[in-house]
Amino acid sequence: MFERFEVLQNADMRQYTTLKLGGTADWLAFPRSAAEIAELFAEAGAAGLPVSVIGHGSNLLVLDGGIRGLVIRIDKNMKNIRREGNRLTAAAGAMLGAVAGFAAENGLTGLEFASGIPGTVGGAVTMNAGAYGGEMKDVVVRVDGILPDGTEMSLSGEEMRFGYRRSAVKDLNLIVTEVTMELAEGDPAAIRAKMSELNRQRAEKQPLDVPSAGSTFKRPEGFYAAALIDQCGLKGYSVGGAQVSMKHAGFLVNSGDSSRDYLELVRTVQRIVRERAGVELEPEIRIIGEEV
Ligand SMILES: Cc1cc2nc3c(=O)[nH]c(=O)nc-3n(C[C@H](O)[C@H](O)[C@H](O)COP(=O)(O)OP(=O)(O)OC[C@H]3O[C@@H](n4cnc5c(N)ncnc54)[C@H](O)[C@@H]3O)c2cc1C
Repeated sequence: MFERFEVLQNADMRQYTTLKLGGTADWLAFPRSAAEIAELFAEAGAAGLPVSVIGHGSNLLVLDGGIRGLVIRIDKNMKNIRREGNRLTAAAGAMLGAVAGFAAENGLTGLEFASGIPGTVGGAVTMNAGAYGGEMKDVVVRVDGILPDGTEMSLSGEEMRFGYRRSAVKDLNLIVTEVTMELAEGDPAAIRAKMSELNRQRAEKQPLDVPSAGSTFKRPEGFYAAALIDQCGLKGYSVGGAQVSMKHAGFLVNSGDSSRDYLELVRTVQRIVRERAGVELEPEIRIIGEEV
């Protein structure tokens, strides 16, 4: 199966997620174009296999039982970036850091907030990723993609219906293949200085040297997840190798090998914060795959 494509069979998902957790994917494909993505869907469909789409895996918890069927990872083979005036168009697999770096080289401002977010452009528009007062919503003017049946689709920024860490991507079942961002002219040195300063702040506050998926929970209305977790005395609390980071309580980090432990930690933190602070924490991370 899938002979014409770059694929792995029984791929260890620990290697394809920043949390370094999860069982194996039956098939893992690295498409080179939108046309290949459509062909992969067609071939999987004909064989009755379910299909999941991922980017860099920086916002994912893959469960220990792994993922049945085909996983399409849009990253290294689809990362072209081009400029037209003040607009940049990036293939969905381009890393945000690379796009922000390209913008800086070209003297374009607006993407500095994104330079330290370790995901692809496709994942970032799906999640409406944001940091330091900026979010993808502010810069995205057009998203191109395909539907599982191969139909091409193009959406404006407005049609993407961006909200806090959400967009229309999941509602439409869209597979993002290309993203166009509108930026403004700026001074390359100033843009670089701002990016370095934000990345310095990030490194100071976040546990970047331990596997994580970034902030585990969304920011609840009127609160900060990290502050609530800290106030509930949960900093450093652990289940097996899964731990509430000592450096930033909003990050649940992993030094073990069990998604079950990680999920139990997520649920325990949710329960204790609900009981002690009366606030419901909603996971920001996406959970996929099967339990053992
Ligand atoms: C250390 C660290 C710091 C982080 N800091 C931030 C931060 O400051 N702000 C922030 O918002 N996030 C942050 N994150 C989370 C994460 O980097 C972002 O959510 C990122 O945008 C996810 O991109 P990804 O390519 O890794 O997507 P994945 O994690 O692979 O996927 C995320 C979701 O997007 C979907 N998806 C991915 N690509 C596509 C595509 N091409 N078409 C359709 N659907 C797709 C997947 O199905 C999944 O539902 C951080 C993560 C880490 C590890």
